[in-house]
Amino acid sequence: MRLSCEVDVVNRLLPSHNVRKAKRGCHAQVSLGRKPAASASRSGSQLFLMVCTAKDRNGAKYVIKNNVSQVFAKFVSEGKATIRFKEPEQDLCLSKADPLQLKSLLSLVRAGAQGQDLDRVTLSSLAPASTKQVEKPRTELTVTSRKEYPVTSRFPASLEVLTVHSCGMKRLDPRILHLSRIHTLDLSLNALTSLPDDWGRLSCVSTLILTDNQLSEIPSALWKSQLCETIAVLDVRNNHIATIPLQICELHKLACLRLDNNGFDSLPPTIGKLTNLKELAVAQNKIKVLPAGFAQLRLENLDVSDNPFDLSVEGVTGEERLVFPTLMECVARAIRKYRIPYTEEDLFPQLFHYLAAARQCWCGNFCFTCSARYFSHVSLRHLVSNSYSASPGITTAPIEGFLCSQHCLTRFKNNPRAYWRN
Ligand SMILES: [Zn+2]
Repeated sequence: MRLSCEVDVVNRLLPSHNVRKAKRGCHAQVSLGRKPAASASRSGSQLFLMVCTAKDRNGAKYVIKNNVSQVFAKFVSEGKATIRFKEPEQDLCLSKADPLQLKSLLSLVRAGAQGQDLDRVTLSSLAPASTKQVEKPRTELTVTSRKEYPVTSRFPASLEVLTVHSCGMKRLDPRILHLSRIHTLDLSLNALTSLPDDWGRLSCVSTLILTDNQLSEIPSALWKSQLCETIAVLDVRNNHIATIPLQICELHKLACLRLDNNGFDSLPPTIGKLTNLKELAVAQNKIKVLPAGFAQLRLENLDVSDNPFDLSVEGVTGEERLVFPTLMECVARAIRKYRIPYTEEDLFPQLFHYLAAARQCWCGNFCFTCSARYFSHVSLRHLVSNSYSASPGITTAPIEGFLCSQHCLTRFKNNPRAYWRN
């Protein structure tokens, strides 16, 4: 029974001598076993827990039987646990372990401490650990050419940061999908045309960089998997993404979104839902107007340069649609307002598609085709707290929004800029 993890040995006597030890764990191999000579005779054989580190490969040994005063296993599912020994008066704090392996180690330690027979379990012979077994697992890997790409060898399972540049990768290597600890994945300068729907065990990625590829859409795996709870930085500059899907607004942890040089002409109207967004770059696209939802963002940096902003339109169109909303409109508004859950099977197709085209009025209500459209201008300075980049001479941006009722229309006409901060 062997376990690779981080170990911090805490001496419980230190505080009583007024000494405080800085918490410093190190990578170690923890094994449970008997000495070979003892196991041959069995009778009287002592069960030990051995902790081998790079500094001490022979390992420190702890007697198990009648020597474990407590096992703290509340966070075992996160790979953490503490074993408290009576003699010496030390606590072994284990972390970064595989939860399943840790669980079985702890149950063996408990059984061994009570003096139970562990004959059926394959125990370690307590031999000193090899250098490889105690060296710190690799957490970063950078590959910058095809030659360096691991074709025959494996990607280390401990990787947290993986960078693969200029390898001509056309599809995501399935082996990468098994690296469950990755939080930063950079696949820039490749030839990716699409990404899989299922991202397997890649569940804690917070930074995803896909610049300079051939992507035609933003990977849907982002909102179809656990990644929608973790993604904070998404960089898809220099691709061929023609539309930005509404679902991108579900990535509520998103703080930095870079979409430069793709060729799309609009941003999702619900972009205001990205309340954590601090940096947005949409330069070199074909955006003529920005959605009114922009007003809800609290941006620090914004780049809107090289977009063909149309500043010629201003005012309200489609006022007549507000007079008598259709029955379909009333139903759709009610579904949205009361957040009634539905699936494609629950509704008739027209209503289902009608619901997908939701617009939000500045009052917060949802409306659909029975709404008036307004165009206004807003100072870019008011949109960001820190700095903005725009084409030369551009200081205002055109925005497009919708009005759900006569009441909102009147308010808008009285003060078209009330919607915007300051
Ligand atoms: Zn309204």
